[in-house]
Amino acid sequence: MMRIKLSDVNNTSGRRYEFAFDIPAGKFDFPTNNYRIDGMIKVGGIAENTGAGYHLQGSVKCRRHFVCDRCLEEVTENQVHNFDEIYAKKSIENQKDVNIFSGDFIDITDLIHDIVIVGQPIINLCRPDCKGLCPKCGTNLNKHRCSCDNTVIDPRLMVLKKLLEKD
Ligand SMILES: [Zn+2]
Ligand SMILES: [Zn+2]
Repeated sequence: MMRIKLSDVNNTSGRRYEFAFDIPAGKFDFPTNNYRIDGMIKVGGIAENTGAGYHLQGSVKCRRHFVCDRCLEEVTENQVHNFDEIYAKKSIENQKDVNIFSGDFIDITDLIHDIVIVGQPIINLCRPDCKGLCPKCGTNLNKHRCSCDNTVIDPRLMVLKKLLEKD
């Protein structure tokens, strides 16, 4: 549980309070189908009493393992995800996206869970320009070159190429 006790920030508007949590990733219900988050989830930030509510800013650090979709290499990646959230006991006028809470503490467990999941890319790549595997011989093109001809020809030009080959 990641709970920020409000007795620490309650007293005065403008009061700031630093928070930090270290929780094992296994305590969260993260998806495991195409990546795995393990190790410690480290959360740190500042809660500020704004008078109308609480402004929470901070970051989540985690470690992700995955297999690159293009070259099939196993990758371990350290990630940092930032957050910036408003919490209040009731909605604040002219302010959207306020997280409503009750009680003497703010529980950010679900927030942290969601931030980590939303922060994951749709495709898993070892690097943005991963060259992948050669479709003919399977060579990892990030590491080696192969001698296969993988030139992709525009289908419209393909017609032309065939015509030329007839001669
Ligand atoms: Zn790759
Ligand atoms: Zn090849």
